Amino acid sequence: LTARVLFVGWDGADWDVLGPIQERGGLPTLESLRRSGADGTLGSTFPPHSVAAWASFLTAMPADGHLMVDFLRAAPGRAFPEIPNGSLDLPRPTLLDVLSRAGRRVLSANIPMTFPPFEVNGAMIAGVFVPEGARFTSPPELQDWLRSRGGFRANAMQWTRSGSLSALLQEARGVTESHTEHYVSLLRREEWDVALFGFMEPDRVQHAGMHLLDARHPANPGPSDDGVDRVVDVFHGLDRALGRLVEAAEPEHVVVASDHGFRPVWRDAVPNAILERAGFLARKATVRGMRRMLGPLRRVARAGVLRAPVRRVLGVESEIDWGRTRAYAPSGTCSGVRLNVAGRDPHGIVPSARFDATLETLMSELREALTPDGEPCFSSVIRAAEVAPGLAERPGVPDAFYVPSPGLGVSMQGASPFRPSGRKSGEHRREGVVVRGDLGPVPRDIWELPRLLTDLAGVPREAWTIGSNDAGPDGSAPSDDERESIIGHLRGLGYVE
Ligand SMILES: [Zn+2]
Repeated sequence: LTARVLFVGWDGADWDVLGPIQERGGLPTLESLRRSGADGTLGSTFPPHSVAAWASFLTAMPADGHLMVDFLRAAPGRAFPEIPNGSLDLPRPTLLDVLSRAGRRVLSANIPMTFPPFEVNGAMIAGVFVPEGARFTSPPELQDWLRSRGGFRANAMQWTRSGSLSALLQEARGVTESHTEHYVSLLRREEWDVALFGFMEPDRVQHAGMHLLDARHPANPGPSDDGVDRVVDVFHGLDRALGRLVEAAEPEHVVVASDHGFRPVWRDAVPNAILERAGFLARKATVRGMRRMLGPLRRVARAGVLRAPVRRVLGVESEIDWGRTRAYAPSGTCSGVRLNVAGRDPHGIVPSARFDATLETLMSELREALTPDGEPCFSSVIRAAEVAPGLAERPGVPDAFYVPSPGLGVSMQGASPFRPSGRKSGEHRREGVVVRGDLGPVPRDIWELPRLLTDLAGVPREAWTIGSNDAGPDGSAPSDDERESIIGHLRGLGYVE
């Protein structure tokens, strides 16, 4: 039996933030869904960020199935990740393929990890992250229609670049409204059985404004601050948008969920500096003098103006003395460290026979690392093989993952192990949200969510496994320019440093 299903994704939404806003009457639509239906905490992937989590949403697999543990991936023979992950890297079938093949009409907009767009039985606006000037709809004509209606703001809210927090919050409110206009028009224009709409606003505003939303943050100004009203207003807008979508769609089933939750941070750990202190990583002796000399150029490189080969010469990679380095952090977002293994890594020195022993020592060093307050730096340190055995074959991915302790973010910048987190006052955590507007079980983990959606749409479970390899990707791979453009956007969001 076919039933119409509306899915709304609030990227980064967390009950610790939504709960108090709802209690003050600020989320009437969500509140009424919770009253008539069921809700819960939705576990994200490990590491808990948008790429891994939305890949799990799309493929119904935990990260050990799709192996996308970072925003970028390393090319074979490279030490650091440089290539953006996207829809072409997803194992197929995706949720959208399964629905399409079962004859359901799909309407998908702004769901992360759907760029490049691919053919569905219906219409798709590919979701973040989208290069400037690229085609991001399927069918392609949909993009012209969007342009004729004021255009679709595919990449927005680059909080590391926005002039001020209040400018970011104003932009976020505008994006919610303009996206919702398009979504409501599409619900009326398209034939659809399952509609999926993504809103990135919670993630973007919480990265820069978590100190206003969480009293545990040392910079929390208390409830009567103007800034608090402005950030809470973004959530009021999201709830109004949800109400408009439910009204326009009149679906049999509504599901709202986030890909991960959020927590306050005020200090960054710098894993490569921690590794340096512990004797696992060495920097070139000349680096200090070069740093001063190249300061202005390095800033340009970080701003994303220079291309990958130049970044290699000026970035963290160039500072490392590989001949004396046994382990390094490939990125901040991968939440882990990698051993520099001979025969496996481009500059490897750890003999593969010493892999286990070196990793054990490294993990105990990380477990013993303390913040300047004398607290453990990482609340847990796990072998990557326990989380995702398939990762071992991939270049530039962690051999051990860590979970930063409360209050701690991660940065790739700086020579000391800790630094203030700057404009970033919030980071991801595993605990996200899920709400369904009718009674029934809610999934515990994000990779179970797509099966709930296909169940609600009346699609048999076998549809996920039958002929799972026949649906090849039909988008073309992004060009070098498009990849650079995506990386530039990721810098604007703080995910690439
Ligand atoms: Zn996210």
